Amino acid sequence: MIIDAHCHLAYEKWQPEKWWKSIAKLAAHKVKDLGIDNFDEQEFLKDILPQMFFDPSGEKQLQMMEEAAIDMVVLTPLDYGVALGDAKISIKEVNYEFSKLQLKYPDKFICFASIDPRRPEAADLIKQALDEWGMKGVKFHPGAGFYPNSKETYAMLEIIAQRDVPVLFHTGHMVQPLYSKYCDPIWIDEVCSDFPDLKIIAAHMAHGYYTQLFSMGECNINLLTDISGWQKKALNNYTDFCKILRSAIDSFGDSRIMFGSDGPFLRAVTSDKNYIQIIKNMVNNDNSKIKFTKNEIDNILGGNAARLLGILES
Ligand SMILES: [Zn+2]
Repeated sequence: MIIDAHCHLAYEKWQPEKWWKSIAKLAAHKVKDLGIDNFDEQEFLKDILPQMFFDPSGEKQLQMMEEAAIDMVVLTPLDYGVALGDAKISIKEVNYEFSKLQLKYPDKFICFASIDPRRPEAADLIKQALDEWGMKGVKFHPGAGFYPNSKETYAMLEIIAQRDVPVLFHTGHMVQPLYSKYCDPIWIDEVCSDFPDLKIIAAHMAHGYYTQLFSMGECNINLLTDISGWQKKALNNYTDFCKILRSAIDSFGDSRIMFGSDGPFLRAVTSDKNYIQIIKNMVNNDNSKIKFTKNEIDNILGGNAARLLGILES
């Protein structure tokens, strides 16, 4: 079974305008690095983004899952509204739309709620999303300007812990004008100790903060991580990717690491199908001195997420 434990759906009206502008700016910069100078940010915003990435109905996502043989995916909204100004559709409505997608495709989509804990309505929304709409966990984006161990976040974590569902924190670098400093995994360390029964996922193996995260993974047995967002490393520096993943397993064990794509934008780097193939090929790879067993890779690709989310493997 293959489960993508970290993915998003993009839609213009779900995100602040400022966010889309910063994505365009970043895309222009990345493309320029590849030697392409005539990148048109306006065209990107008007044509390329909607065509390639906007997917409010989840249909592009389903098609991509079919191509990559992904059985299920965890989808979460993003709430950057407090930092960047609200999107055209309210965060409550966005969460509700995700819950409706989960209801429509219960065998494919697992949806987590997401809201900035500083919003006055955050507690009510989390309760409603989990209790009434059946959402299966909560995602937080501290890069919007709050710490995972803040008073506001702790109030939300109490609600989540009572309901025994996982919480996912973005960790690692953050697109400007959001802030990376809140996404250092060290801010989750206290959360792990104060909520020992809560399953806490640090997203993206914390990108560049991974040594910090792996050190935390040794003893924080309620801490998990996902490998979403590492496509570029896997593609361009395979040896490094193998070393880092090996080191993650050596710290966390193979039961607390999950596959993730961080789609849809990372599909500009490589397809989910290819990313999964790279990971599958790591088993007994004779070209590499770094070894992975089939069991380790099977756990990462889906077994661990299935156990975490209570999905029965057929
Ligand atoms: Zn994410």
